[in-house]
Amino acid sequence: MKIKVGHIDYDYREVECVSKEELRRGEVNFLKRVIKIDYTMDKETKAETTLHELIHAIDDFMSIELEEEQVKQLGCGLSMLFKDNEDKMKELFLDRLTTNDKGYK
Ligand SMILES: [Zn+2]
Repeated sequence: MKIKVGHIDYDYREVECVSKEELRRGEVNFLKRVIKIDYTMDKETKAETTLHELIHAIDDFMSIELEEEQVKQLGCGLSMLFKDNEDKMKELFLDRLTTNDKGYK
């Protein structure tokens, strides 16, 4: 699956081993444009990890230069918002950002 961040298409892959060097839940490779997520994790951890890696991708694309701790905090904060406001997040953001008044893109 491809995930677009700005003009960059990242290849999203759920894999058995994210990194041979260290134990990791996920990683983003900016050169290869690949986001790898450990497929053995539960659904919620996969979602949070994917969000975390996407924040890294946005950080890189926009040259924000976030610290790892800031990426973690943003990931946790956004996950919290999505979980606690599931129905409203769709209505207030996803629907408004992806469809026009007639209901199509
Ligand atoms: Zn990170």
